[in-house]
Amino acid sequence: MTELNFIDGAHRAGSGSETLTIVDPSTGETVATGASANATDVAEAVAAARRAFSDWSRRTPGERSDIMLAWADLLEARAEEIAALESRQGGKPIRLAEGFDIPGSIDNVRFFAAAARNLEGKASAEYSAEHTSSIRREAVGVVGSIAPWNYPLQMAAWKALPAVAAGNTIVLKPSELTPLTSLIFAETAHEAGMPAGVFNVVTGTGAEVGAALVEHPDVDMVSFTGSTRVGREIGAKAAGAVKRVHLELGGKAPFLVFDDADLEAAARGAVAGALINGGQDCTAATRAYVQRPLFDDFVARVAELMESVRIGAAGDPETDLGSLISIAHRDKVAAMVDDAEANGAKIVCGGEIPGDAPEGTAFYRPTLITGAAQDSTIVQEEVFGPVLVALPFDTDDEGIALANDTPFGLAASAWSTSVFRTQRASREIQAGCVWVNDHIPIFSEMPHGGYKASGFGKDMSQYSFDEYTNVKHVVSDITAAAHKEWHDLIFTSDQG
Ligand code: NAD
Repeated sequence: MTELNFIDGAHRAGSGSETLTIVDPSTGETVATGASANATDVAEAVAAARRAFSDWSRRTPGERSDIMLAWADLLEARAEEIAALESRQGGKPIRLAEGFDIPGSIDNVRFFAAAARNLEGKASAEYSAEHTSSIRREAVGVVGSIAPWNYPLQMAAWKALPAVAAGNTIVLKPSELTPLTSLIFAETAHEAGMPAGVFNVVTGTGAEVGAALVEHPDVDMVSFTGSTRVGREIGAKAAGAVKRVHLELGGKAPFLVFDDADLEAAARGAVAGALINGGQDCTAATRAYVQRPLFDDFVARVAELMESVRIGAAGDPETDLGSLISIAHRDKVAAMVDDAEANGAKIVCGGEIPGDAPEGTAFYRPTLITGAAQDSTIVQEEVFGPVLVALPFDTDDEGIALANDTPFGLAASAWSTSVFRTQRASREIQAGCVWVNDHIPIFSEMPHGGYKASGFGKDMSQYSFDEYTNVKHVVSDITAAAHKEWHDLIFTSDQG
């Protein structure tokens, strides 16, 4: 049995009655088993985080930064091991884990190590003749962070790094399907010198452990990445307790191709953007709107490229597309595709489990769909699988309107060789990120976060400090007078 919690600087078994089994869904093999945490473990982790807060929040930025730089080195030294684990617990192709998940997370640690030293309030100044004002940015306190399974280490990094860099302490609940790399993340932070209790991990289901964390009265802030459905629930609870909350939720990214676009670039971009991580990516390209003159050629080329993708076990370096996270999730994806077909859409390629998929695995073929109605479920709701819908449009106005026509607003891309069209699309598409002639790349220095039902607040970049700090206005009298002029508004005694 693996100890699936890291509390107060030590690995610990959970106190819950449930045994969690972490499975490689691309082989069906068990990767680890361990006891689930329960509300008692959450309370202990929150208490440890509270005890650690006053020391950690008072460390100088330089001290926090040095520890984080050492942390990045420890992660780098174990990068191969972490990538293998990340790949297995998610059915994620090892090439993706090695080339994206792990280096991206390490780069994030280094970015926040530097950013910690650049966190500043506004310079002092006089906004009245009698006072000097200054701004302090202070850590919020104990942060309860909840992460999804799709990019386990990167999501843990996006939640934990700005929080601890700014002097907060955290209790992270990874997905119960994929906790293993988050545990190494917390362990290496501690080895690098982060005091016990600053970074804790509790593993269990959302309904039990996640809810206990959100509802704990000593958690000052909840930071959540996951589905819009759960985000709504957490947001309502946080509002009830007047707790700060940061929500990174679902997406349904449009991929808008104008008729002057480079067709080959757009087709390749659509396949990569739709299939990354098996389409289990909140920013994945899901709705390709293609201006009519290019539509047929786009569909043909995307289908051809999708058919060339090699499906296989996560650990095989030849594998392009691993499995989905679980059989239950694969079945949900398949049901959504079947429903689209039953409602008149056409499956151009894919739309099924590969015939040779071994028993107990969760593979699904790359799928291209045309002919779906704009208001249908497959176009409006998150599928979170290797499924792209392509629909034609005629005028630029129509294309942009269709791109905006879902409840989500996380990411989008616009493809054109005209600067006027791409500038217009960047301005008018309602999303936290608009790529121009590309789709997916992210950088530690730049923010990630949603509009509309995709949530609010930013991960990564200096902007994320706005979530994890309180802004305090300090006002100092500079007159040294006992009788201040403004007192006369309240009382007019001339004594003294
Ligand atoms: P999910 O919402 O089911 O679960 C996310 C996390 O919340 C898990 O750790 C889960 O255990 C926990 N949880 C579930 N119910 C809870 C509850 N009632 N109280 C507290 N915690 C609870 O999402 P998922 O299936 O793990 O991940 C996929 C979703 O995440 C997709 O919708 C995807 O778009 C979204 N996502 C968003 C971003 C972003 O940056 N916006 C990034 C990655 C994933």
